[in-house]
Amino acid sequence: MNEHPTAWEPPAGAFWNGAWRNASTALAVHDPENGTLVGQVSDCSPADVDAAVEAVTLATLDPDGWPLWQRRTALNQAARLLADRAALFVHLISREGCKPVRDAEQEVRRATETVRLSAEQGDRLEGRTLPFGNTPRGANRIGWYTREPIGVVGAITPFNDPLNLVAHKVAPALIGGNGVVLKPAEQTPLTALAFLEVLLEAGIPADRIAVLPGRGATVGAALVGHTLVDMVSFTGGWASGNAVARTAGAKKTLMELGGNGTVIVLSDADVPRAAAAIVDGAFANAGQNCLSVQRVFVARNRAQELVDLVVDRTEDLVVGSKTDPRTDVGPLVDEAGAERVESWVDEAVEAGATLLIGGKRDGAFFWPTVLTDVPAGSRVLTDEIFGPVVSIESFEDVNTAVREANRSDYGLQAGVFTHDLDSALAVARALRVGAVMVNDTCDYRIDAMPFGGGKRSGVGREGVPYAVDAMTEPKIIAIHTSA
Ligand code: NAD
Repeated sequence: MNEHPTAWEPPAGAFWNGAWRNASTALAVHDPENGTLVGQVSDCSPADVDAAVEAVTLATLDPDGWPLWQRRTALNQAARLLADRAALFVHLISREGCKPVRDAEQEVRRATETVRLSAEQGDRLEGRTLPFGNTPRGANRIGWYTREPIGVVGAITPFNDPLNLVAHKVAPALIGGNGVVLKPAEQTPLTALAFLEVLLEAGIPADRIAVLPGRGATVGAALVGHTLVDMVSFTGGWASGNAVARTAGAKKTLMELGGNGTVIVLSDADVPRAAAAIVDGAFANAGQNCLSVQRVFVARNRAQELVDLVVDRTEDLVVGSKTDPRTDVGPLVDEAGAERVESWVDEAVEAGATLLIGGKRDGAFFWPTVLTDVPAGSRVLTDEIFGPVVSIESFEDVNTAVREANRSDYGLQAGVFTHDLDSALAVARALRVGAVMVNDTCDYRIDAMPFGGGKRSGVGREGVPYAVDAMTEPKIIAIHTSA
């Protein structure tokens, strides 16, 4: 990784109408680990949103204003700059966010790839001719459709992947020829502003993009409800997603929401491999991951072996400062978040669950926790915990495990461990989720796959090529000939 000065602050607290600007009020950014001040950005207002959206709309009106080859060149250059400045981004993600440096490094690598993949999607922006000759109503017509930008994309992102989830919205929107107004999570705006700086340096026209830090209920809601915003691409929790849907009304929305990821371990599985993957998937980023492993169902004859291995491996995890390269588990987003996780675990234990390890809290830190015998209906099973807690239950018949998994209100991803192809496919087909990983946990994705789920987990699919599809629309030109 190339060295780059890690002392960075944005030229101003926000960016719109082609310039860095400060809104009238400021928003402090704190390190969740110790509460120290990391920086200050703007706390933008609905009036700032108005100005930003109007300016970006103007910039997108000329259909020849920013040709595809220039978009592709700029995004490829942005990917290179991001890789060059990896050290800066690792620093920002691991200061304002929750990720230990090792995980932040991984996020920067993925974001670089997300931007590069977006540049490559220039090839996808093609149309086709239309079969007018196939109907009497098509007589004397020729025509085609092209893939056109949707217009202005309003992008709203959460705190847990402050760079890659911003890249997943902004880069596909830009290669598609759109303008984009981004509202990053209030906890992690510095990473988004540093990414903006990279985009501008790479040649993204300054009037095509705006970044407005601020609150969900003010900036987010104003962006979603703005009549000039053609599409909202939202990633966040289910409750916020519901509010966005209400405000958006009939507008096009792409929603990536929460999960409570399931893993099923069959009796023939490689249990040590499953245990290692479960510990990694449950506790990375302190469980603050929509794909986090939250519920494990294991065949009864392998249950004790799996539980012992998971507990052993959990014991070895280093909980500590994000800046220490040995750290596996850092803090939750704030103390209130850690208290919520603690109260859900306490509630399950009071209802009869067995606490195998963890359950301890210190400020915003919550220790990796493994539960078993959790009574049905406990929030650690039914809701998205978004913390380092996993529950393991045994089953006699795999159909019971599948039924339990499907009973969830969420349907993002799942994993199944087995060597038996028929069993793997049967379980995969029966699970009502967006993706099933065989011999991996639910916590696996590549950035180019269609990503998303059903039920409370979202509406539509992100993942670079699919986001580009969602952010562009076919436009038909039909010619009525006189011959
Ligand atoms: P959150 O819902 O609290 O906030 C997400 C974003 O929405 C923030 O920028 C916030 O300011 C904004 N927001 C909140 N209320 C809004 C409103 N009424 N109108 C417009 N914007 C509003 O989520 P969070 O705590 O930052 O992130 C955690 C959640 O995100 C979890 O549920 C997690 O599963 C989900 N998530 C999903 C994915 C995915 O791809 N499916 C990825 C990462 C995180």
